[in-house]
Amino acid sequence: MTPYTIDDLEHADTHHAIQIADRIWWVGHHQENDIFQCHVYLIEQGDQSVLLDPGSVLTFRHTLRKIEEVIPFTHIRYFVCQHQDPDITGALPLIDQMVGRDDAVLITHWRTQMLVKHYGLRLPFWLVEKHDWKLPLEDRTLKFVFTPYAHFPGAICTFDPVSRVLFSSDIFGGLTPEFSLVAQGEAYFEAMRPFHEHYMPSRDILGYALQAIERCPIRMIAPQHGSIIPEPLVGFMINKLKTLDCGLYLIARGDTDIRRLSQLNQTLRDITHTLLIYRDFKDIASSLLEIMQRILSATSLEFYARIDERQVLHLSPETRYRGIETEPPAAVARILDLDHKQWSTLNVAGVTEFMLASGNDDMPALMLPLFSPAQGTAQAVAIIHLAEPATSNDELSQVIEQMSVPLQVAVEREVIYRQLDMERQRIYERSIRDPLTGLFTRIYMQEVIQRLCDIQDRSPSNRVAMLMLDIDHFKRVNDTYGHNQGDVVLRRVAAEILSSSRGSDIPMRLGGEEFAIFVVGDAVAHAAQFAERLRVQIAALRFDAPMAGRTITVSIGIAIRQLQETLLDFMQRADKALYTAKSTGRNRVYLTLETMVQLHAT
Ligand code: GH3
Ligand code: MG
Ligand code: MG
Repeated sequence: MTPYTIDDLEHADTHHAIQIADRIWWVGHHQENDIFQCHVYLIEQGDQSVLLDPGSVLTFRHTLRKIEEVIPFTHIRYFVCQHQDPDITGALPLIDQMVGRDDAVLITHWRTQMLVKHYGLRLPFWLVEKHDWKLPLEDRTLKFVFTPYAHFPGAICTFDPVSRVLFSSDIFGGLTPEFSLVAQGEAYFEAMRPFHEHYMPSRDILGYALQAIERCPIRMIAPQHGSIIPEPLVGFMINKLKTLDCGLYLIARGDTDIRRLSQLNQTLRDITHTLLIYRDFKDIASSLLEIMQRILSATSLEFYARIDERQVLHLSPETRYRGIETEPPAAVARILDLDHKQWSTLNVAGVTEFMLASGNDDMPALMLPLFSPAQGTAQAVAIIHLAEPATSNDELSQVIEQMSVPLQVAVEREVIYRQLDMERQRIYERSIRDPLTGLFTRIYMQEVIQRLCDIQDRSPSNRVAMLMLDIDHFKRVNDTYGHNQGDVVLRRVAAEILSSSRGSDIPMRLGGEEFAIFVVGDAVAHAAQFAERLRVQIAALRFDAPMAGRTITVSIGIAIRQLQETLLDFMQRADKALYTAKSTGRNRVYLTLETMVQLHAT
């Protein structure tokens, strides 16, 4: 029989021994309806032949028949057990009775021997670690690769340097609903995935085993379960296994469905990934929503996070998660500040870590408290809105539990960002607002007024007028009543300016006891009346002692900006008008004739 193109192997008759490489034979048995096929291999070496992972009582008579198609059973001298599981060693008592020759041995690792010896076999053990991990044969020397703890402490693999086949035992094994002796492409990895994720204890341990395996120049992998991996797929499968998550039974709890566990694990990874790659809360929220939609009829996500005793930050899709400061709704307020213990008593109805937010089936939602690790209390609440009511199950609570820690971090981070933003805003405000009067300062003016001027130049109907105010004989106030009393006067005048101004007016303190009000658009036509009214109101201000009975007056100059006029020229004209108001007697409004004409030319 000429072996063994991949195509031949795919179509080979599994009722017979199948040569998978030169004098390397598959002598396993295709069991009906078993997703966990167990393969046995034979290395033909005359009367020094080797049988690898002999199999169980269920399969051995088939294996024996296939061996006899190739060589007499008596030609087998070496029985290799790569670990101790029953699907490998169950046939040993049968074999032990059949073997007549004295030089036959059972090849294994001492940790495997510790268990297999309980079969009470006559066959002597030949331990790999006592033979430098090598078995010299007629025309080749087999090499044993130690793959401890993946999944059994004494696990080994066997490499044949002539055929370059790796007999990999459990590693590279797969769960295959359809029997397929040879892997049908990269898709076979999906058969390996659940088996390895669940069965291999950790990625580190599997990684160690893969490293050892990679030192062999492998051309074909012959695993004990699943399908044979032909040369073109060897590198791919090794690399894919390296990045696999292992030890899924750690999160298994009651669940033994390893495919579901595998999906769950993917979900948990996606959650971590989301929080790692996205910075923008909006992106985090939409990615987490997408993940939740795999297990829930989630329609949207919103959050409330504590910022102080009264207020929360509300992050919702309606505001594109920009965050609005508000008071928490009652349902949220009920949960905020609870510790774990209080939450669990509140959550008597809920089976797990979350509760149904409303009994109202029109708007079902889950509420998830996000506990601050520092305080141990819920400092935020996530609300998962649903299209239909959810029933609690293990998977759901696992995903939600897994999500809650990173969510807490994301929300807390958002609150910190927000507070930093507010701090920045306060610093900015401080520079644009005069601390004494609360009015905008000149710094602010430059920018804003320049913008108004630009608007006017583009569309001339948007006129700009400037009222420049100066308190009359203010120095006397300071001199007579002291600087503090001067400040009182400044504040009163500023308050009067502020309260008389309309929303579209821009009042500011230019410095000292000088103020300006910029008036824009239609209001410009009434600028003179406005100035006069303001003058009268200020003159009417009444002060307490020591200034009881004293009046404070202001002088006001007005200018209306001409198209293309620079801000400096514009202000100088207002200043000139003010000067005229001063020099013609104070406590008055002055505007040039030219300005008066402009005022009436709407
Ligand atoms: P005039 O009618 O010509 O404007 O006379 P005036 O005394 O108001 O004129 P002047 O501009 O010479 O005086 C302004 C004074 O305002 C001088 C300064 O000591 C005082 N001043 C400036 N800033 C402040 C302030 O923030 N608080 C107080 N109390 N006084 C200030
Ligand atoms: Mg003055
Ligand atoms: Mg002055």
